[in-house]
Amino acid sequence: MNTVVRYLKSLLLLELFQGLGVTLRHFFQPKFTIRYPEEKTPKSNRFRGLHALRRYPNGEERCIACKLCEAVCPALAITIESTQRDDGSRRTTRYDIDLFKCIYCGFCEESCPVDSIVLTDLLEFHMEERDEQTVNKQQLLAIGDRYEAEIAANREQDAAYR
Ligand code: SF4
Ligand code: SF4
Repeated sequence: MNTVVRYLKSLLLLELFQGLGVTLRHFFQPKFTIRYPEEKTPKSNRFRGLHALRRYPNGEERCIACKLCEAVCPALAITIESTQRDDGSRRTTRYDIDLFKCIYCGFCEESCPVDSIVLTDLLEFHMEERDEQTVNKQQLLAIGDRYEAEIAANREQDAAYR
């Protein structure tokens, strides 16, 4: 009996028409997909993407080389070397983050006492050569300088929860 039913179904193309019916039903419904990269999904202001080092409005770098971020990083992705300036303040001479080791947990920005290291909402970045996965202090400061307005706005929105 089953064989007869299967034969009739395949002869009358019933399953094909059922499938076309599903396609037709969904054709006029709102779409859940977007045309990336022209269209983008909304991002949370807490999104954890590419790192940046921030400066104060007077241009002075915020980082005081306390190394808390390096100590807290579970992936050992941060490498810091520091020195003391003539005025007695401490500053980093090296601040590297290995983006391949990083798990984007955000612990570094949580631990920073001066809001220096932050994770921006940038997610579209790539590497083309070996060793490009390690971003250095100058690169991190440049990202911070370029996106400071967005970083400050995102942190302002989240200030009540910090
Ligand atoms: S986001 Fe997490 S894993 Fe990445 S550098 Fe910061 S503390 Fe380390
Ligand atoms: S980024 Fe912040 S936590 Fe890391 S060394 Fe600098 S001041 Fe300390």
